[in-house]
Amino acid sequence: TCDAASTVSAIRAAAAAVGEYRSELTALDREIGDGDHGENLARGFSAVLGKLDGDLPGTPGGVLKLVATTLISTVGGASGPLFGTAFLRAATAVGDAAELDGPAVATALAAARDGVVARGKAEPGDKTMVDALGAAVRAAQERAAAGGRPGEVLAAAADAATEAAAATIPMQARKGRASYLGERSIGHPDPGATSTAYILRALAG
Ligand code: ADP
Ligand code: MG
Ligand code: MG
Repeated sequence: TCDAASTVSAIRAAAAAVGEYRSELTALDREIGDGDHGENLARGFSAVLGKLDGDLPGTPGGVLKLVATTLISTVGGASGPLFGTAFLRAATAVGDAAELDGPAVATALAAARDGVVARGKAEPGDKTMVDALGAAVRAAQERAAAGGRPGEVLAAAADAATEAAAATIPMQARKGRASYLGERSIGHPDPGATSTAYILRALAG
């Protein structure tokens, strides 16, 4: 099961992954954006780590909400409000439950994706984080329906997101800065889809 303490551990792991992949993500964003994606996320997640040193919320939803508000106020760029919205919608979806089962985790991921789509208006195939999140949600729902535990549901989501991030390489970007490049955005992975896959992998443990 997934309680407040294990949610905090998962978020710490996500922050570590962002630190580990920071320069790779920034290099990807240098190809088809403005070269700051890794820095943006690293700034946000180190602020999150700082918050996790204080008084901790008692539920998974409380932890997710703390992450959301911290990311929204520190990340900036296009991805800050989008990742912030993702965590905020996930927090709202799980409510004040003390423990989350597999289906609750899948529901939270679906809410996160819906929030990102509502906010950024990207569709699947636009070469954004929505490609990774959408694939993650479908895999998570399937695994949850098959009785998967939270870690298994997140692992399935991470596998699908990793594949989906690679599948953005031949796409032409239709949202965000990369869309300004037109056909020159083809041939590179989307930074936000890539970071989404890394974060899901870390959350899965
Ligand atoms: P910025 O482009 O403002 O510098 P980042 O570099 O941090 O912000 O994030 C870029 C990522 O944000 C892209 O790789 C893409 O995945 C995501 N993104 C940009 N615009 C949108 C959008 N409208 N909907 C969903 N994701 C988006
Ligand atoms: Mg950028
Ligand atoms: Mg920027």
